[in-house]
Amino acid sequence: MTTHFSLLEALQAGLDELDGLHLRRYRHVVDSPQGVRVQVEGRTLLNFCSNDYLGLANDACLRVAAEQAVQRYGVGSGASHLVCGHQSPHEALERAFACFIDMPAALGFSSGYMANLGVVTGLLGRKDAVFTDKLNHASLNDACALSRADFRRFPHNHLSALEAMLAKSKAKRKLIAVDAVYSMDGDLAPLPDLLMLAERYDAWLYVDDAHGFGVLGGGRGSLAHWQLASPQLIYMATLGKAVGSAGAMVAAQRVVIDWLLNKARTAIYTTANPAAIAAAALAGIQAIEQDTSRRDHLMARIGQLREGLVGTAYRLADSITPIQPLLLPNNEQTMAMSQALWERGLWVAAIRPPTVQKPRLRITLSANHSKGDVDELLTALTELEPMLGGMR
Ligand SMILES: *Cc1c(COP(=O)(O)O)cnc(C)c1O
Repeated sequence: MTTHFSLLEALQAGLDELDGLHLRRYRHVVDSPQGVRVQVEGRTLLNFCSNDYLGLANDACLRVAAEQAVQRYGVGSGASHLVCGHQSPHEALERAFACFIDMPAALGFSSGYMANLGVVTGLLGRKDAVFTDKLNHASLNDACALSRADFRRFPHNHLSALEAMLAKSKAKRKLIAVDAVYSMDGDLAPLPDLLMLAERYDAWLYVDDAHGFGVLGGGRGSLAHWQLASPQLIYMATLGKAVGSAGAMVAAQRVVIDWLLNKARTAIYTTANPAAIAAAALAGIQAIEQDTSRRDHLMARIGQLREGLVGTAYRLADSITPIQPLLLPNNEQTMAMSQALWERGLWVAAIRPPTVQKPRLRITLSANHSKGDVDELLTALTELEPMLGGMR
């Protein structure tokens, strides 16, 4: 009894400590579809923190695709892909994805997190080495630790530090793993230089394009943006952000995909996503391919936000993507600014350690934001500018 009590007390003390540091996390309940305006706890908020960059999460085409798939395939897939859960929409999605990004083959995973775990642990073991950017997504870090390979992290976008690590490594297999678009900063990895290093040192280059697919390269993502192709490239896109559904796709040479189908534990030992999710993702990819107006509109909003903050005390990180971080001096003031915006009906996520080193408001834009929506954010930020003065 006393033991149980002390176990609980230790957790409570840990939570209290987080509270004291303004680092405790809470959730808000959203009672509407994802979108530019969301219902939250009885209020309507203008949303600037979603990854629904193209506004497809509640798009009519995706809804219809999912509804029709439910009619035809029901809800649950019933088994893993390798047993009897791999249904026609899953197969169609893999083929369409590979074709869209011009890669030989693709393999579906239930989420981006699982794709990263599956690919890195499927390719690497104890005698191998993995080289990663310090700002990579948490799921890639977890994947590298789980692989038991020699895990080397280089400073953000620091190519010569990476090259020195590669040159020294005696590992059997080498893999460089990066985010193509850094999720909390919005900046890009120098993929052409990274591919050159991968080729020079006979390493794989694994590209996590969670935030680039659908947005960059005419929607085809970061490889198209940089016009890259190589048998050493392994590409991952998630389907829960710009695509508006859920899941993830890994694309590579056919032999890589066949290997992963046999070795990626997160693809093997898990139930396939519902067919309706795959059908909606396929409709999302079709919308990305056919409708350029969403991307044009999104790019116009990004330009509007950046121009609107020129000459103010606010500092946006350098980013051409829908991720536009507003850097602030400390956790407490980041929370205060986020709270003040919330009170004005604007939802902007405060991102703090340990997710990032430097606290920030992570503003994300969507193709469904109107010019007036971004003006509303700019007006609120202008009104709150004195708060920023007090923080310095
Ligand atoms: C969101 C994200 C993931 C995880 O994808 P999910 O499908 O949400 O699990 C992986 N990598 C990066 C860079 C991400 O931003």
